[in-house]
Amino acid sequence: MAETRMIDGKAFASNLLLQITADVALAGDAHGLQPGLAVVLVGDDPASRVYVRNKAKTTVQVGMKSFEHRLPAETTQETLLGLIAGLNEDRAVHGILVQLPLPAHLDSAAIIAAIDPDKDVDGLHVINAGRLAAGLPGLVPCTPLGCSLLLKDALGDMAGLNAVVVGRSNLVGKPIAQLLLQENCTVTIAHSRSKNLPEICRGADILIAAVGRPEMVRGDWIKPGATVIDVGINRVPAGDKTRLVGDVAFDEALGIAGRITPVPGGVGPMTIACLLRNTLTAAKRIANISETVK
Ligand code: NDP
Repeated sequence: MAETRMIDGKAFASNLLLQITADVALAGDAHGLQPGLAVVLVGDDPASRVYVRNKAKTTVQVGMKSFEHRLPAETTQETLLGLIAGLNEDRAVHGILVQLPLPAHLDSAAIIAAIDPDKDVDGLHVINAGRLAAGLPGLVPCTPLGCSLLLKDALGDMAGLNAVVVGRSNLVGKPIAQLLLQENCTVTIAHSRSKNLPEICRGADILIAAVGRPEMVRGDWIKPGATVIDVGINRVPAGDKTRLVGDVAFDEALGIAGRITPVPGGVGPMTIACLLRNTLTAAKRIANISETVK
């Protein structure tokens, strides 16, 4: 059985955060710039609260300024739009993130559309989706950016490789496909209506699973030696507890895949690191400073 190498997203993300910390210090010393990230949380969804707390903590750790706005679940669209308009104008704020999902009475699309695209560090504004599709500089969604950094580190030049992305969400699947296209991969996007999914996956030199279905991608869907990026985060029962599994049947993939991201410890830790990378990028662009972070 051939050996499958782990792609250690946790270690890569720690390194990236160190680089960002050094770059933030440099931007402060040389230009008096302290990047600021505003995170807006509406309501008290426990998972969202944890995400926001972790984001704020890491923001401060890298030397950036963190602005947290916690609003009650019954916040109106007008109030939220008013807050975003203020953050768009605030010169201390370079990145704005509205924690999703928003309560059902709020129009998420309209809220995201109200964010200044140059401060849209989640990369979800249609202007940034358009920039990505057109190959122009913009802000790229954090998880796809994290996958692309891991792949470049593991594989170097990806030109001509067959990449299959399973999943076509605006948040994950579509932007990953765009990034792989920029790396000159031959890209196939599969989804719930695709026919012969196992066969499509078996053609992949790079297989990205971004579906949200525990262990859907089986070992015999994987081409021997392929690089597998498992974006899925699924909580499944394990005795009287739960455990996290990806969209790929990890144990089956061992010995077949050439490289694989584990869950947890693969793509997950890259998301916050890339959020802060985007905040630094946004701050430098706004302040007209050349970008140095890798
Ligand atoms: P969505 O639910 O928005 O999209 C899922 C995609 O998978 C859709 O395009 C859907 O197809 C496709 N799909 C669903 N069932 C099947 C199937 N049986 N066969 C083929 N395709 C299928 O999810 P997200 O893109 O937001 O997230 C995907 C996964 O990534 C989730 O597990 C999520 O938790 C995880 N995630 C992880 C992050 C991280 O930091 N690591 C960050 C964000 C997400 P269709 O369009 O046809 O419905």
